[in-house]
Amino acid sequence: MPEPHVIVAGAGPVGCVASAVLAARGIRVTLLEAAPELPKELRASTFHPATLDLLEKYGVVAAMISRGLIAPRFAYRDRRKGVVAEFDLTTLADSTNHPFRLQCEQYKLCEILLEGFNKSPNVMVRFGAEVAAAINQRDQATVRLASGDTLTADFVLAADGAASAVRKSLGLGFEGMTYEDRYLVVSTSVELADHLHNLAYVNYISDPNEWLVLLRTVGFWRALFPVGEQESDSQALSDESAQRRLNGVVPRTAPYDIAHRTIYRVHQRVADRFCVGRVVLLGDAAHINNPLGGMGMNGGIHDAIMLGASVAAVLRDGLDETRLHHHAALRRTLAINYVKRHTHENATSLAAADGASRARALDLMAARAADPEMCHAYLRQVSMLDALQMMRNELVEVGELVR
Ligand SMILES: Cc1cc2nc3c(=O)[nH]c(=O)nc-3n(C[C@H](O)[C@H](O)[C@H](O)COP(=O)(O)OP(=O)(O)OC[C@H]3O[C@@H](n4cnc5c(N)ncnc54)[C@H](O)[C@@H]3O)c2cc1C
Repeated sequence: MPEPHVIVAGAGPVGCVASAVLAARGIRVTLLEAAPELPKELRASTFHPATLDLLEKYGVVAAMISRGLIAPRFAYRDRRKGVVAEFDLTTLADSTNHPFRLQCEQYKLCEILLEGFNKSPNVMVRFGAEVAAAINQRDQATVRLASGDTLTADFVLAADGAASAVRKSLGLGFEGMTYEDRYLVVSTSVELADHLHNLAYVNYISDPNEWLVLLRTVGFWRALFPVGEQESDSQALSDESAQRRLNGVVPRTAPYDIAHRTIYRVHQRVADRFCVGRVVLLGDAAHINNPLGGMGMNGGIHDAIMLGASVAAVLRDGLDETRLHHHAALRRTLAINYVKRHTHENATSLAAADGASRARALDLMAARAADPEMCHAYLRQVSMLDALQMMRNELVEVGELVR
């Protein structure tokens, strides 16, 4: 009987975590990454408590903490009035081993896992290996690379991002919507906490003219601003725009140093199915979300752990394949009813156009923060602990959690 073998497409955070889950269960993994080296673009930087709880078993959390920042609180602010509602994640200590958000760029998790793969006999990583298509066969799946080569394994896990070649090759729909506003992200090393009183590491800031999100990462403040139809990408990315926007947050006489800037379109889309025969979709290949609330990558890592363990259980422990289909359907339901719902709510409450709706959204946040019971329930939701609870039985079934 040949050793079970799985191909993972894409060495982003989701593909790397899926590879680690499979390798830990003795499955041989070939991880195919299109880029010549690990992409280090600045994208997700927030890991939620539920995700850290799931990752703990894979021995990466201490290294992530050492390369990131622990954020025990986050805040809703009004640009003029300051803090409106502050949430203390340490009150979740009864529900999680990690009662905080970890501010750590997603590529650092990939680096940590790839360092481990270099020493593992189970994972072979191939950079510069672009997957063009996946083809189902009986009890196996084949990938065709852009080079023309083909490779066959027991399963293919597609974590090849939002433009997934695998998803397209299967002819799956990716229905949903695109927001009108694009988001501009600008990073600076100027210490904004010296000027804004009681600034948390994660802040959602309401304003009649321009809302924003302010996030701390190691060495930088990252500001995210909406960009309307009237402004082109190049205008929004200009020095003038970055200086104007940051000066609107904290006015300065000296110009801000701009360490990094990017603009992107924001979508909510979910693939028709997450599992087709022996091909399984994970992460952005399966669902893309508004980044407000930071659930896209986190949800993708939950896919990787749930479905990676499920595939391993089919190959190693004789789990009936219909259970894998059930687990994939559950992840799809959570992508729609949990991640999409909460990230859309976050976006609409922060971006409310009229003053009355904005005030209502802030009042709701203040009421939640003031009432311990409401606050606990809200924190469980935004920390994705409720999402974990909703797949608890399935995680126990595939050995990721003990009852
Ligand atoms: C500015 C910004 C901020 C964000 N902040 C957060 C946050 O704080 N928290 C959060 O949870 N989410 C956040 N997100 C979303 C998050 O970045 C994504 O959900 C996450 O990157 C998805 O991971 P992934 O591994 O599925 O896909 P990706 O990170 O896109 O990785 C896909 C990998 O596959 C490779 N690839 C692509 N095509 C192929 C191919 N054909 N063959 C082989 N390899 C291929 C790519 O090179 C890449 O390495 C943010 C997004 C943005 C843009």
